[in-house]
Formats: sequence, structure tokens, C-alpha cells
Amino acid sequence: MKNMNNDISIIEELIASYQPINDREKRLTVEERREQLFKRIPTDLYAKLNQAIRQEISASNFNIQELLNDLLIFTEIKIDDLLLFWLETLDSNLYGFLFRDASDETEDKLFSVFSSNFSDENLYLLEYLPWCKSQRAFEQFVEWKKNPPNWNKRLHIPIHQYTEIAGWELDEYNQKRLLFSPICYELDIDYRRFSSSENSKCPLCLRSLLHLQLTPTAIAEIVPGSLFKSHVQLPFCNLCCRFNFGSLSLLKDEKVKIDTRNIYKGEVPDWIKKEKELVGNLVLKTERKVRNPYFAAPMWSKYKHSQLGGFPTWIQNPDYLRCPTCNQKMFFFMQFQEEEVFSDQYDGTFHFFLCTKCKDRFYVKQQFT
Ligand SMILES: [Zn+2]
Ligand SMILES: [Zn+2]
Repeated sequence: MKNMNNDISIIEELIASYQPINDREKRLTVEERREQLFKRIPTDLYAKLNQAIRQEISASNFNIQELLNDLLIFTEIKIDDLLLFWLETLDSNLYGFLFRDASDETEDKLFSVFSSNFSDENLYLLEYLPWCKSQRAFEQFVEWKKNPPNWNKRLHIPIHQYTEIAGWELDEYNQKRLLFSPICYELDIDYRRFSSSENSKCPLCLRSLLHLQLTPTAIAEIVPGSLFKSHVQLPFCNLCCRFNFGSLSLLKDEKVKIDTRNIYKGEVPDWIKKEKELVGNLVLKTERKVRNPYFAAPMWSKYKHSQLGGFPTWIQNPDYLRCPTCNQKMFFFMQFQEEEVFSDQYDGTFHFFLCTKCKDRFYVKQQFT
């Protein structure tokens, strides 16, 4: 009897932990605690947990979808029936990436909407489809690319490009090309300052550039067909890449340089030019812990976003830039969260991309809340 009470308290504690927490130290403690709790859920408690989650969904607790993602990451628990229950109970958006666990039955439900009563009200269902694993879902996008449906005009991007929401695209042969690596490592990044006279300047805001140091092995583990033989020092501006300017750089004579021809040369606001400079290198610590590629997909319930590979934490819309040379979408290979590296800075997430075709073009972009 005593044990059973303990077990139920695991469920209560878990559910209660999916609340926004402001204090960073506290968030890290909660994150570690949850991981321990997931390991302690006995199999015979799965039904009770399922029931408890249904109650939360019925009570419109939207935070609970972050728990659903963690169930896929840390346990053997299937969430497909909960996805269906969510669709039936709430007419609100659910994280699309949870549909990677969708069954045939759930897919059928999605497909029946597109073929029968498709309307503006259920447009959001389209964001779930690229996550479905079946051949049927894949072929639907190929078909839509060849013959766009008449409601295609109502979308802000062509329907076949919705696949980018799930991190893939249809290439020129209508094959699936992944835009991120399913291999993923948790990252710790060191910021090593040095004197500003040694550093090169951002061509837009004229502040010092930061350099991310990458080893050939780190890139080779994540990017298919990577050809780097020596260390790469990847320059980027921590503020210009926060807005539309981006930080595009290319490898030339074994050195990476900011590509001033291809970056957006709009007017950089004065406040950026006056902002304090960060001068130094960012170095990846070599000790690495493997993590599930979707670990950091939800934005707020995860506090260690920094990772090599894996699926990006999109704070705004997915944003895979096209390579300015070959026009192919660039491949996401790592990210770090600003507050994990510079404690007194903003709370943005930096995304790093590489063109897998040209193999010499990098792009750095920051998203923020
Ligand atoms: Zn700049
Ligand atoms: Zn390219």
C-alpha cells in the first residue's frame, strides 16, 4: 500500500513540474529531478499516468505536451492515444514533433480531414503530417509538390515545404533529405576571452566577431560527407545574427571568412553598434553525453539547449537558409543557448548551419523570445 502511494506521488510530482520556472538554477534542478522520476515509473503505473494526463488535457493544461515529449525521450510509453484524445478534446495546437509517435489510426484521422472538410480552421493540422513516419505521408508531399491542391494558395509557403517543420525536404529527385542530424550530443561550451586587438571586426556593426572553434571530428560526427581535415574557426557576430543580417561565412584558403557579398546589408541599428563587445573564442568541451535528437525540441521545459546535432530548438518559425551559391537548404549541425555561455547576455539560441553540397559555407542565426 505504501509503495503504491509512493508511485502515485511520482505522477503528481512529474505533472506538477511542468510549469514555467523563472529561476535558472531551479530549472536545472527540476530538469535533473524529472529525469530521475522517469526512471522510477514502474510499468504497472503507465495506465494511471495516462489517466492523469487525460485529466490535464481535459482541464486545458497546455504545459502537459512538454511532458508528452519527455515520455518519448525517457520512457517506453506510447503517446499516440493521447494525441488522438488531445485532437478530440482541444481545438488548440499541439507540438507537431509529438506526431513522430502517431499510429496509422491517427494518420487516417489527419488524412480524412484533408480529403473531406479542409478549411482555414484546421490548417494547423498540416503541421502534424510531415512528422508522420509512414510512406503514405511522405508520398502525399511528393504528390502535393507535383499537383498542388487548390487550397495551397491559402498557405504562406507552398504545401510541400511544410516538411521543413519536421526537418526534411524533398530534393530534386523527390527523395527525402534530412536537414538535421539524428545523432545528438549534449554540449558544454566555454567562452575564452582574449585581448580585443587580436580580433577581427564584424563588417556590419564593426564590433568584434566571436569565433566558434570546431574540430574536424566534431563536424564529421554530425554532418554527412564532411571533408574538414583541420580545425575550423567559425566567425560570427553575436548581435547581427540576431536580426535579418545573419552571419554567413565561407572557407577560403583553409580559413573561414565572413562572406560580405552575400549577407543582407541593411542599416544596422545604432544600439547594436554601441553594444558591449564580446571578445574571444567559443570552445566545445570534449566530454559529450549522447541525447535524444528531440530532447531540446520544446522551447521552455528544457534548460540545456546547447547541443551538437539533433533537432533544433525553434523559438520562432523553422529557418533553414538556402545556400547562396547552390540554393540547397543548409544543414543544421549545432546550437547553443546564450545564457548557458555568457551569463549576463540575452536569452537567444544560436543555430549553426553548413551547406552539405558546397561544404564551405556556414550560416549562423540567432532566434529569441
Ligand atoms: Zn555585427
Ligand atoms: Zn551550397
